Amino acid sequence: MADNNVPDNEQHETFRENLSTAEGSGKRKWVFAKKPKGKFARYRDIVSAILLVLLFVFPFIRINGNPLFLFDILNRQFYIFGAYFSPSDFYLFAIGLVTTIVFITVFTVIYGRIFCGWICPQTIFMENVFRKIEYLVEGDRNKQIRLDKQGWDSEKVRKRLLKWTLFAVVSFVISNLLFSYVLGTDELKKLILEGPSESPTIFIVLLIFSALFYFVFAWFREQVCTFVCPYGRLQGVLIDKDTVNIAYDFVRGEGTAGRAKWRKNEDRNAVGKGDCIDCDQCVAVCPTGIDIRNGSQLECVNCTACIDACDEVMIKVGLPAGLIRYASENMLEKRTKFKFTPRVIAYTVVLFVLISVCTSLLFIRSNVETKFLKIVGTQFTLENDLVVDEYQYIFINKTTEKKKLNVRVLHPESAEIFLIGHGTEFTIDSKQTLKGTATVKIPQSDLKKTKEEITIGIFDDKGQKVDEYKTNFIGPSKVRF
Ligand code: SF4
Ligand code: SF4
Repeated sequence: MADNNVPDNEQHETFRENLSTAEGSGKRKWVFAKKPKGKFARYRDIVSAILLVLLFVFPFIRINGNPLFLFDILNRQFYIFGAYFSPSDFYLFAIGLVTTIVFITVFTVIYGRIFCGWICPQTIFMENVFRKIEYLVEGDRNKQIRLDKQGWDSEKVRKRLLKWTLFAVVSFVISNLLFSYVLGTDELKKLILEGPSESPTIFIVLLIFSALFYFVFAWFREQVCTFVCPYGRLQGVLIDKDTVNIAYDFVRGEGTAGRAKWRKNEDRNAVGKGDCIDCDQCVAVCPTGIDIRNGSQLECVNCTACIDACDEVMIKVGLPAGLIRYASENMLEKRTKFKFTPRVIAYTVVLFVLISVCTSLLFIRSNVETKFLKIVGTQFTLENDLVVDEYQYIFINKTTEKKKLNVRVLHPESAEIFLIGHGTEFTIDSKQTLKGTATVKIPQSDLKKTKEEITIGIFDDKGQKVDEYKTNFIGPSKVRF
C-alpha cells in the first residue's frame, strides 16, 4: 500500500522497516483477509478436511486393543501406531525427533514452507475453521471492515457475540481433542460422565487450554507464525535462491516500466509495463497482511490465497495466470527449471540414513526389555568353588499380553542365575516393569579373567529367546605375584 510520505522510488522498500500487522506507533493493525477462492483454495479445503477428520478420528482407533496414538505424559506411556513405548525407549523418541527436524529441514530447503500452508494445525484451524466461522457470521472482508468501524449497535453486538461464542465452543472442542491424545478417549469419556466436581484439577486445566486456544485463534492469530513459531524464524537460514516458495514473478510482473493500473485497450508490452495491474487483490487476501510482491518474507505462510486471487485477476484481464506461483528466485530470475542443489542432496542423504536407523531400531526393539546392573558397592562372595555376584534386574513387558518367561545364562554355560523370590521363571503383566535382585554363580575354574563378560538370555514359554543382556561378572583377582 502506498505511503504518501515516502518518495515513489522507495515505496516498495518501506515494508522492510514496518511490520505488516502494526501501525508506525506499534498499535496492532488487524488483518481483514478477503475470503480466498479458486483452485488452490479448493485443494486446501479438501486437504484440511481430511486432516481434521483424521485428527478427530485417530484417538478412537485401536490396534490390538492399543490406542493408535497416545501421549500419556502423566503415566509415562506412549503409543505410536499402536506400539507401546515406555520411557526406556526415549532414545527412539530422540532419534525420531532428529529425523523429523531433518525431514522438515530438507523439505524446507527444497519446497519452502509447504508444511505451514498445507499441514500445520495452526494454519488449518485458523484458516479453515475459525476464519470460516468469521466469514459465516460477519461476511467477507469489506463487511468485516464495515462492522468493525460501526458503533456497538444491535447488529454488531449480535454478530460479535455469536462469533465469540462459536469460537469459545470450538476452542473447548480442540482442548478436549488435545486431552484425548494425552489421557485417552476412555479416560476422557469417564471424566466427562463423572463431571467437573470429580476431577476439578483436570477440568481447570481443560478450561485453561480452551482459553489459550481462544486467545490464539480469536486474537493472536497470524502473530503466532510471525513472532512465536521457531520454524518460521528459521526460514532465513533454511531457504536459498533455489527454494521453491510462493513467489511473485517480478520479471513478468514489473516489466521494464514497472507495475501499473489496468487500462482497457492499452498495449502494456509496447510501453514496457509489467503484467501486475497493481490491483492489490493479493494483499487483500493475505491472512498475514503482507505484499508478496516485496519478495520472500518471514510472515508468508505459503497459504496460496494470493495465487488464487492473482489468477482470478489475470484471467479477468486476459493475461496468463501464474503471475504468483510456486517458484524459486533463480527460476524467476534466470527463467530456469527446478534443480536439486548439492545442499539438498546432502540433506537428503542424511535424512535417508536417519530414517534407516530409526526403522531398524524399531525392528530390533525387543518386546521385553531386560537389564542386569551390577549392584553398586557389592563384592563377589564364595560358595565352596562357586563365585557369586549380585545384580539388580529390570524387565519391562512392552506388549499387551501377560508373559511367562524364564531366564538362563548363555555364556559361560556353566553359570547359573536365580531371581530372588522367583528362581528362573517368572510372569510379568502387560506394560509392567518387574525389578528385583538376581544372583549369578560361576565355578572358579571357569573364570579366566577378574572381569568376565556374561550373557543372560530371556525366553518365553515356547522356548523363543525374547531378549538378551550382556554384563560384567567381577570375580577374584587373577593377578599373580
Ligand atoms: S503472501 Fe500469499 S501465500 Fe504468503 S501468506 Fe500471504 S496470501 Fe498466503
Ligand atoms: S493480484 Fe496480481 S495483478 Fe493484482 S496486485 Fe497482486 S500481483 Fe499484481
